[in-house]
Amino acid sequence: MEPTALVALFGGTALAALLALFLVLSRKGRSEDEARAYLAGFTYVLSDDPDAAIAELSKAAQLNRQTLETYFALGALFIRKGELERAIRLHQNILLRPGLSLDVRRRAQLALALDYKRAGLWDKAAEAFEKLLSEEPEHLEALLRYRQVLEQTRSFERAIALQTRLVSLLGKGDGVLAHLLAELSRSRLPGDPKDAERLARRAVGLDSSCADAQLALGEALVALGRAFEAAAPICRAVELEPELAPTSLRLLSSALESAGAVERFLEGQIGSRGEEGPAFELALALHLKAQGQVTRALERLRSLVDRLPRFSEARRELGALLLSEDRSEELKADYEEILGALGEPAMGFYCTSCDQRLPNLVFRCPACEEWRTVRRELGAARSREPAESRADRNLTR
Ligand SMILES: [Zn+2]
Repeated sequence: MEPTALVALFGGTALAALLALFLVLSRKGRSEDEARAYLAGFTYVLSDDPDAAIAELSKAAQLNRQTLETYFALGALFIRKGELERAIRLHQNILLRPGLSLDVRRRAQLALALDYKRAGLWDKAAEAFEKLLSEEPEHLEALLRYRQVLEQTRSFERAIALQTRLVSLLGKGDGVLAHLLAELSRSRLPGDPKDAERLARRAVGLDSSCADAQLALGEALVALGRAFEAAAPICRAVELEPELAPTSLRLLSSALESAGAVERFLEGQIGSRGEEGPAFELALALHLKAQGQVTRALERLRSLVDRLPRFSEARRELGALLLSEDRSEELKADYEEILGALGEPAMGFYCTSCDQRLPNLVFRCPACEEWRTVRRELGAARSREPAESRADRNLTR
């Protein structure tokens, strides 16, 4: 078993140090000097003085394979304990050692870059990744992790360059590239909508089933005053991702030009998608409310809440509308219902990759940095009648 794995297994400084001692003692043919330098470092770990252990690293005359492995394991332990500053100093110290083999050097460079990323030191992380990639342009993990740093700092141009390289190396990843192009397109929207259109078209060309890309194209076309052309990509976007319907209502209204057309489009989706339609139903209720058709909006919301009591956005809109209409009796009834269901999970969103709960739909999970992993909460919306659980399931898809 690798020392790192054992450290992960036991997860304690003392145990890690004991493991290191075991490795020292079990290794035959180690020179006395090496063994002494090695033991000195871990005596400090045992006495819970990891800073002295890091200092010992820079004093050690030579770093052999085994010693290095143990220092990398110590670095992993620091990370696990959230001691990022120590991990950074440890990896910096390894890199200062003369005579490192190329692969050890790269490994320490990557570890240091990842430390900076974990610590949220984006500039330093970018610098470390750039250095590593200048030496090894096809380093897959560096390309992926650095792209994530650039997503964090919204430096989409460079992120696109890295993802393009990843796509050519791996033969996949066009979907992520489409999202990055959509993001870059949006950032160009205020100053250069023409360029925004070009970027969004590239995104749609890469992945026409990407709702994000279709939406970005629609946004660019609306900004360019070409509403007629915008209608197709915007409708396509919400067809691909119904959860976009309530938040894209204004865009839909500018593209379809008449309130009646928006209503017909949404009604059509509700009718043809059947039980996949709650997001469209919410969008229609919001649209009716915006048109001043309060009674119809209330009917829609009431029906949604009755079928999907945990649909929190619908519940919130219903409450807000009852409040603004001063319908205190209905509001009271609704409030009592909410109290009765208090503590039951709301029908929010979650990441299928890391299980992070999220209040709204995002294309990229902020916790694990994966794309397209966020879905409606599965099974959280306990409905009152059997027929309605099908609606919940379909909503989560
Ligand atoms: Zn996640």
